[in-house]
Amino acid sequence: MKGLMMEQPLLVASLLMHAQRHHADQEIVSRRVEGDLHRYRFADLAARSRRMANALGGLGLRPGDRVGTLAWNGYRHMELYFAASGSGAVLHTINPRLHIDQLAYIVEHADDRVICFDLSFLPIVEALAARLSGPRLFVAMCDPDHMPAAIPPGMSMLCYEALIDANGDDYAWPLLDENTASSLCYTSGTTGNPKGVLYSHRSTVLHTYAAALPDALNCSARDSILPVVPMFHVNAWGLPYIACMVGAKLVFPGPALDGKSLHELIEAEQVTLSAGVPTVWQGLLAHVAEHGRRFTSMRRTVIGGAPCPTAMAVQFQEHHQVEVLHAWGMTELSPVGTVCSFKSHQLSMPADARYALQAKQGRAVFGIDMKIVDAEGKDLPWDGEAAGNLLVRGPWVSRTYFRDEASEPLEDGWFPTGDVARIDRDGFMQITDRSKDVIKSGGEWISSIDLENVACLHPGVASAACIAARHPKWDERPLLLIVRKPGSGLAKDELLAFFDSKVAKWWKPDDVVFVDGFPLGATGKVLKNKLREQFQHHYAPAMTQASPPG
Ligand code: ADP
Repeated sequence: MKGLMMEQPLLVASLLMHAQRHHADQEIVSRRVEGDLHRYRFADLAARSRRMANALGGLGLRPGDRVGTLAWNGYRHMELYFAASGSGAVLHTINPRLHIDQLAYIVEHADDRVICFDLSFLPIVEALAARLSGPRLFVAMCDPDHMPAAIPPGMSMLCYEALIDANGDDYAWPLLDENTASSLCYTSGTTGNPKGVLYSHRSTVLHTYAAALPDALNCSARDSILPVVPMFHVNAWGLPYIACMVGAKLVFPGPALDGKSLHELIEAEQVTLSAGVPTVWQGLLAHVAEHGRRFTSMRRTVIGGAPCPTAMAVQFQEHHQVEVLHAWGMTELSPVGTVCSFKSHQLSMPADARYALQAKQGRAVFGIDMKIVDAEGKDLPWDGEAAGNLLVRGPWVSRTYFRDEASEPLEDGWFPTGDVARIDRDGFMQITDRSKDVIKSGGEWISSIDLENVACLHPGVASAACIAARHPKWDERPLLLIVRKPGSGLAKDELLAFFDSKVAKWWKPDDVVFVDGFPLGATGKVLKNKLREQFQHHYAPAMTQASPPG
C-alpha cells in the first residue's frame, strides 16, 4: 500500500537549501589560518558549496568516492561538508592530530580520491604523499596568492579558490536515496587500527533533529554557536548541520584554540552557545580567571568527550552564569547519545544535589535506546547503584565498520559502547569507566571517574587521572595521578585526607603521584593506557607491606 505522506528523502543538502531559503542573511564568521576574520552569509555558503560541487564533478569524482579533509573549523571546510555529501560523494574528515602512520593507514583504507587541506597541514600532507601507494589529488584551501611556493615532485596540488572561481554556482543537488553514505569518520583507536564509521544522509538528518532539541543541545535561530570541538571530530558533534536546520549564526575558531583567542572571539561575535572537550575549557577558564574577564553573551556550553569535572561546572555556573550541558556520545553514535538537562522536579534541588546530577552524562535523546547489562548480558536495574556494560541502539548508531562489513560489533541488535555506567530512576546515565579502565579491587569495581571527580574538587588540583595499578593482594588498587595548579604545594597526605567521608574507605586511592602533565590522544583525552603502562607496577615493590583497604 502506498503511504499517505510524501516520501521526501532526508538529505544533507536539504539542510543547506533550508538555510539558504529561510536564513540567507545569517552570518558565518571564521578565523582563518591566514590570521584574519572572514565573514559571510548562509546565501554565500550555499552558492560556494554549489560551485565546489561542480568542481568536484569536474575532477572526476563519482558517487560514493571519498573526499578527504585535513582542516580546522572554518567556512571552506563547511562548504566541503555540503559539496561532497550533497553531490553524492562521501566527506571524510581526517583528524590531523593522529600519528602519521595512522593517517597514512586511514587515507589508504578510505581510499580518498581528493584531499583538501588547510595550509597549516602542508607538512603532514607532504609526509603523507610520500607514503601513499598511489597518487592522490591535493587541494590547498587558500587563494592563489597563498599557494605553497614549492610542491614536492610528483605531487598534484590544486588551489581551492581557483576551483571556486573556475566553476559556476548553477548546480542542482541530486535527489539521492536517503540511505546513501554521506560522511566518514574514523575512531581514534587507542589500540589497533582506527575503524571507519560511515554515516548516511538519513542518519545525519535524524541526528540533527534530535541533537537540536531544547533538552539536547538547545539550538535556535537566536543563537550564535561556537563549535570548538573540531569539524574533523565527529562533524563537530553535528553543529554545522544543526546551525543550518535552525538558522543559528556560526562562529568558527580556526586554529586559534587558546583561552585568549577563544575569549576574544566569544565576546566579539556575541557567542551564546559553545561546545568542546574539558581540556579546551580548562585553558579558557584559566585565561578568564587570570585576566578578570567575563562572558557577556555566552549562556550555555556543551561539555563532552570526557567527563566534565564538577569543579569546571561550578566555575562556569557560579562565576560566569554559563549553564553547563554535560553530554555523552561516541563516533559510532554520530555522536550524541545523552545530554544532562534537568527535569522540572530537579530544579528545586539543593545545589550539591544538582552538581551531583550534572556529573552524570544525562538522559537519552529521543532515538537512542540504552540499557546496562552484567557480564552475562542480563539487564541491570535503573536504580543509580548497579553498574554494567552500556549498550545502545538507534537510527544513528553504526551497525558495522566501513570496509570491514564482516565484523559484527552488535550484540543482539545492540551496540556495546565499551563504557560502564549506572542509570538512575530518572533515566540519567553516569559513566563510571571505560570497560578497560575499570579498577577491580578484590573482585569489586571502583569507578576511576568518581575518584577523579573528588580529586578535582580540591583547590590545589589542576587535573587528575586515576588508574588501576597491579596489587599483590587485591589484584588492582587505585593510583591517583595529579597535575597540581601552578604555585600549589599540595602534598599527598592532604589530598588523601580530602577523600575521607567523600568515598567509601576501600575506594580511597592508596597513593598519589604528582606529574607535570598527562599524555593526550588525538581528541584531547587523557591516554590512560599510556599511564597504565608507566605506573602499573607502582604497588608491586610494596608487596609485603600491602595494607588492606578498610
Ligand atoms: P567523542 O570523544 O566525540 O565522544 P569518541 O568516539 O572519540 O567520541 O569517544 C567516545 C568515548 O568517549 C565514549 O565511549 C566515552 O568513553 C567517552 N566519553 C564521551 N563523552 C563522555 C563524557 N561526557 N563523560 C565520560 N566519557 C565520555
